[in-house]
Amino acid sequence: MRFEYSPAPESRAIVTLRDSYGLFIGGSFVPGSSVFKTISPASEEVLAEVTHAGPEDVDRAVAAARQAYERTWSAMPGRERGKYLFRIARLIQERSRELAVLETIDNGKPIRESRDVDVPLAAAHFFYHAGWADKLGYAGFGPSPRPLGVVGQVIPWNFPLLMLAWKVAPALACGNTVVLKPAETTPLTALLFAEICQQADLPPGVVNIVTGDGATGQALVAHPGIDKIAFTGSTEVGKEIARACAVSGKRLTLELGGKAANVVFDDAPVDQAVEGIVNGIFFNQGHVCCAGSRLLVQESVYDDVLAALRRRMGTLRLGDPLDKNTDVGAINSRAQLDKISELVSSGEAEGASRWSAPCPLPDRGFWFAPTVFTEVSQAHRIAREEIFGPVLSVLTFRTPAEAVEKANNTPYGLSAGVWTEKGSLILWMASRLRAGVVWANTFNRFDPSSPFGGYKESGFGREGGRHGLEAYLDVTGSADV
Ligand code: NDP
Repeated sequence: MRFEYSPAPESRAIVTLRDSYGLFIGGSFVPGSSVFKTISPASEEVLAEVTHAGPEDVDRAVAAARQAYERTWSAMPGRERGKYLFRIARLIQERSRELAVLETIDNGKPIRESRDVDVPLAAAHFFYHAGWADKLGYAGFGPSPRPLGVVGQVIPWNFPLLMLAWKVAPALACGNTVVLKPAETTPLTALLFAEICQQADLPPGVVNIVTGDGATGQALVAHPGIDKIAFTGSTEVGKEIARACAVSGKRLTLELGGKAANVVFDDAPVDQAVEGIVNGIFFNQGHVCCAGSRLLVQESVYDDVLAALRRRMGTLRLGDPLDKNTDVGAINSRAQLDKISELVSSGEAEGASRWSAPCPLPDRGFWFAPTVFTEVSQAHRIAREEIFGPVLSVLTFRTPAEAVEKANNTPYGLSAGVWTEKGSLILWMASRLRAGVVWANTFNRFDPSSPFGGYKESGFGREGGRHGLEAYLDVTGSADV
């Protein structure tokens, strides 16, 4: 049965866009060397002019962060730092609708996701780390672990505010100051977060935000005044950053790409598994580093699972991201749409069989219909490379051992999913899958207390939980680590 939905658009009125935004340095918005425009990927309309930070702007931001680190933040007792983090968390909650609408406009993701996932999780990260700020001596890193200093943070465009929260909250809780560079295509919620820092009376220079492109990120990574770099993004850029940081003495954590296997056994409840498969790959248009982009289905239930999956994909609603009924929003940029299209063409050329959900695509903006590839071999590019879009590649297996072998046959190791009724099989699989996170009978679940990070080309270091604190503390010499 098909349901008809009337339009249910969320109002944009709650967001006041400025014509142009400066850089957030030393607690104020300041001009920089040049400007660029940020657009809405759903309509291609220009939203605002944003400042491009050049090397001299990055230098000013690092100097402001250093001064704040030495004069205020590192010397402040943890319980005082915690109060600021609690205040920021509460302000994120208070301004949650504004943040959600702005995120959806700038990123293209459905309002349902920014409202129910991105923004609440961002607040949760600040609440969680606020609680740690005065308890670091009990975290198992020795009695008085020290902060590292000034941290440079470079984040991608898929979860702009949430990635900011993953980076900024633990850094501040541990007593570091930060210079953060948001992605070029999604700077607006980071700039609203800068206003929240002002509203929270955060001491100037504790958080600095430099907008720009890859060159700004490069300047930040190369800056000699930085003590640690935290990066989330592509494996290619991660490798470049690792080279740039080598022998510099800078600490480094990298959260990179993935090509996760979502493994469905023949005893899994099909409808529940299909919901998990859909959430695993079509959530956030598949712009998710831990997306379940390789579906491994046990051969005996292949026909049932595929039929149910196509049926479910046919009900997904693609369109206006601000509509509360929308399931699949816009692709974040033309460049990303081109990348998805190129990889999908390679899948067809290499002999895989493509099926796309029959949904009309809007005339303006960047869109890609939810797509599934069958008859995929492990050698196909669509089975090996991160597509970072709403495209699923399906492979089959007969035995658990074959499932493990195929799941681990990837240079990545960020996440995996297992669907079965048997608890023993879940544990057997989890102990063999080379992935930082293994979800059982669910997918894409996040919690600030749970460490997240990868193996192999998915990077190193963990974010979240007690493990995530270690990345922002000087734990050398601690016997308890
Ligand atoms: P990037 O890895 O290029 O971007 C991530 C961040 O790093 C952005 O802020 C970017 O700036 C910045 N950056 C780019 N080059 C450098 C550099 N040399 N030194 C320091 N910082 C740099 O991802 P893209 O946006 O280009 O996406 C490319 C592909 O990466 C996607 O198709 C997807 O497959 C993958 N990806 C994976 C992510 C993940 O979480 N695993 C997240 C994002 C992308 P700016 O964007 O402003 O130029």
